[in-house]
Amino acid sequence: MLIALVIILGLLLAVLAYRYSKLNRLISDLNHSIAQKKPFLLEKPFGIRGLGPIDELCRSIRQLIEVDSHFSKLSGDTLPQLEAALENMQESVLIVDTANFVVMANEAARQLLSEGKGLQGKRLEQVLRSAKFLDYVNSVKSGAIMGRQEIEVNRGTELTWFEVSGSPIAGLGDQNDELTIFVLHDISRLKHLEKLRKEFVANVSHELKTPLTVIKGYSETLVEDHHELPVKARQRFLVKILKSVQRLHLLIEDLLTLSRLESGPDKLKRMPHLLPNLVGDLAENFESRLEPGLQSIELEFDPRITYVHVDGVRISQAFENLIDNAFRYAGDFTLVRVGMQLLDDQKRILCFVEDDGLGIPAKDLPHIFERFYRVDKGRSRERGGTGLGLSIVKHIILLHGGEIMAQSEAGQGTRIEFTLPAELPDGVELPSTPPKVNVQRRISPSPARIGPAEDLPATGD
Ligand code: ADP
Repeated sequence: MLIALVIILGLLLAVLAYRYSKLNRLISDLNHSIAQKKPFLLEKPFGIRGLGPIDELCRSIRQLIEVDSHFSKLSGDTLPQLEAALENMQESVLIVDTANFVVMANEAARQLLSEGKGLQGKRLEQVLRSAKFLDYVNSVKSGAIMGRQEIEVNRGTELTWFEVSGSPIAGLGDQNDELTIFVLHDISRLKHLEKLRKEFVANVSHELKTPLTVIKGYSETLVEDHHELPVKARQRFLVKILKSVQRLHLLIEDLLTLSRLESGPDKLKRMPHLLPNLVGDLAENFESRLEPGLQSIELEFDPRITYVHVDGVRISQAFENLIDNAFRYAGDFTLVRVGMQLLDDQKRILCFVEDDGLGIPAKDLPHIFERFYRVDKGRSRERGGTGLGLSIVKHIILLHGGEIMAQSEAGQGTRIEFTLPAELPDGVELPSTPPKVNVQRRISPSPARIGPAEDLPATGD
C-alpha cells in the first residue's frame, strides 16, 4: 500500500516536474520573443492541457507580437521609400530621432549643410549650430504646433537664413523613438534682396528729403514774410529753391533710368551704330568745359572697330557719365583718354575712360558702382551728383552683355574700362558705302580761344 502511494506520488511529481519545465521553457520563449520582437512564436504550439489562462496569455502575446511585427515591417519598408521620395526634392529635408541624431538627410540638405557629405548619424547640434533652431526642434518634438520659422545661422564668415518647418512622423520608428521631419529652405538670397530694397528705400527717402526740406523752408519764409524781406534775400531764396528743384529733377531722372534699365534687356533699342563716331561726337560736347591750355581729351579708337550693335542713347549716356565724372571728381586733371580696342578674341571690344586726376581711395574702389555710393558725400552732392551715375553705367554695360571694372590709385588717376560685344547679329543690314571713322584726335581748346575741335586727319575704311 505504502509502495503504491510512493509510486503515485512519484508519478505526480514527475508530471508536475515535466509541466514545470515546459512552463519554464514557455516563459523563457515568450521573454525571448518579446525581447527580439520576432513572431517565431507563431510557429510554436504552446498548448498545455489544463493551463487555459496561460494558453490565453500566450495567444494574446502572440497577437501583440504579430501587430508589432507588422508595424515594424511597415516602418522598415517606409523609411527607405520615404528616403527615395525625398532624395531629389529641392527643399532640404532632415529626419531626426528623439536623441537628435540624423536618421535621414536628402541631397539638398547634404549640399546645404555639409558640402555634400553624409549627415546620417550626426547630431543635429553638429549640423546646424543655432540655439533658435534647437529650440524650434524641441518645441516640435514636444508636440507644440509650430508654424514656419525664420532662422539665422552664422556659418563661418557668411550669414545664412533658413525658413524651417517641422512635424513628428506618426508610425515611423518605434514607440520609444519617434522620428521628426524638418524641411529647410535657404532664404538667404531673398533676405539679401529684402535688405537691399530697404536700404534703397531709405536712401531714396533721404535723398528726396534734403532738397524737399530746403524747398519747404524757403518757400514758407517767402510766403509768410515776403512783405518784410528785402528783394536780394527773396532772390537768394528763390535761387536756393530752384537749385533744390533741379536736384530733385536730376534724382528722379536717374531713378527712372535705373528702374527702366532694371526692367530687363528688352528695354534696349539695339541697332548698328558707328561707335567711334558716336563717342567722338559726344566727347566734343565737353570741349567748352576744358581749361584752355591745361586740359585736353584724347581719343584713341582701334580702326578695326566700326559698326557695333548697341543702344546708341544708352551707350552715349555711359560714356557721358564717365567723362563727366572726370570733370567733377578728378580735380585738376590734365588729360582724359577715351579709347576702344578690339580684343584678341575678335568678339569683344574693350572701351575705357581714363583720367590723370585725384583718383579714388582703395577702400572706396570696390563700392563705387553701388547705388548712392559717394566717396566724398558732401562734395559729390555739391557737384550735383546723385550717387547713381556709375550704377547706371554698370547696368547699361551688363545689359549689353559686357563687363565693367575700375582701377584707380589715389593721386594717380582713375580708369574705368568695360567690354561690349563686337559681333553683329545675323541678318543685320549695314549701309553699302564704307564707314568714315575718326580713329584718333585730341580735343584741346587753345589758350587764346575756345574753338572747334582740332581734328587729326580722318581715316575712312
Ligand atoms: P554721381 O552720380 O554722384 O556723380 P557716381 O556714381 O558717378 O556718382 O560716382 C560715385 C563716386 O565715385 C563719386 O562720388 C566720386 O567720388 C567717385 N568717382 C567717380 N569717378 C571718379 C573719377 N574719375 N575720379 C575720382 N573719383 C571718381
